Amino acid sequence: MSKRDYYEVLGVARTVDEKEIKKAYRRLAMKYHPDRNPDDASAEEKFKEATEAYEVLSDQQRRAAYDQFGHAGVEQGAGGAGGFGGGSFSDIFGDVFGDIFGGGGGGRSRSTRGSDLRYNLELDLESAVRGTTVKIRVPTHVRCEGCEGSGAEKGTQAETCGTCRGSGQIRMQQGFFSVQQTCPHCRGRGKTIKNPCKKCHGVGVVEEDKTLSVKVPAGVDTGDRIRLAGEGEVGVNGGPSGDLYVQVSVKEHPIFVRDGKNLYCDVPITFVDAALGGEMEVPTLDGRVKLKIPAETQTGKLFRLRGKGVVPVRGGAPGDLLCRVIIETPINLTKRQKDLLKEFQETLDSGKSGEHAPKKHSWFEGVKSFFDDMKF
Ligand SMILES: [Zn+2]
Ligand SMILES: [Zn+2]
Repeated sequence: MSKRDYYEVLGVARTVDEKEIKKAYRRLAMKYHPDRNPDDASAEEKFKEATEAYEVLSDQQRRAAYDQFGHAGVEQGAGGAGGFGGGSFSDIFGDVFGDIFGGGGGGRSRSTRGSDLRYNLELDLESAVRGTTVKIRVPTHVRCEGCEGSGAEKGTQAETCGTCRGSGQIRMQQGFFSVQQTCPHCRGRGKTIKNPCKKCHGVGVVEEDKTLSVKVPAGVDTGDRIRLAGEGEVGVNGGPSGDLYVQVSVKEHPIFVRDGKNLYCDVPITFVDAALGGEMEVPTLDGRVKLKIPAETQTGKLFRLRGKGVVPVRGGAPGDLLCRVIIETPINLTKRQKDLLKEFQETLDSGKSGEHAPKKHSWFEGVKSFFDDMKF
């Protein structure tokens, strides 16, 4: 796969400084960020491409290597074959978006933002339409209370790592140039712990189930996401927590089919009701309503009940309920019923051609001329 030039991706000249690169990336990231372009694969690709370019060009050493050797110069030590390592992404996210989304930290500390979590929430249609509050249990890593996240046993302190002198990174000579790597001794934390906390074994976080109360707004639909800021994985070394995304899916309903803000339902009626007209009780999400069916109603006809659909979650007028009338052919007829129908049919046949069943009449006429036109 041939990659586009990183400068071209960011739309900047090769001579621009770090500030310009950051500005260019920020502009692209705001435009193509997956949160702003849900279900848009091409936007996600552009976002990843811009992120990769930014990862390289924002790092002086990697930028120099790229300037000299092109893509080959930065392929190794990129932290993952795809060039889209989770950790480094978090770094960039915190750094570039920190001031916009209120992520804490700032500066160039070794702290890392916690991962985002996703929770799949299945709702029935009524709850999705009316809104609800649900309690969910989320397994997550939380800051260890025993050591307040430092990983060091109470009364002791973590020490600055001697190998990297606290920076968490070491420089390695690789071929022509040197690359920065995560310090293997402290695994990038910049600190070592002599007396690890017994509760978390020095990690600083413990696994725990937490119960969250999620307010689901009225009108949500399958594919909607509810963001609970700061309820994701806890950050490393005091970094901000990630977010929890509650992914909504709405279960199938026995009566209603939802399409956006409109609801659909099938209403079976007898052919007698269809012919003579009548009043039907039909269900809505707020209870039953009366539906007037005019005489001579044909099967498949849609009746629109305005405003009986869904109020969209993003606001606007409520949708409609569309009732589709289905004429049911009678079954299990008694002898008398059959006789009545035969008698009824005879009265139909004795009428003017096409008077009582114009569709059937014109259909037969059409079929007849179709065969007449055929030359065998
Ligand atoms: Zn601990
Ligand atoms: Zn170290």
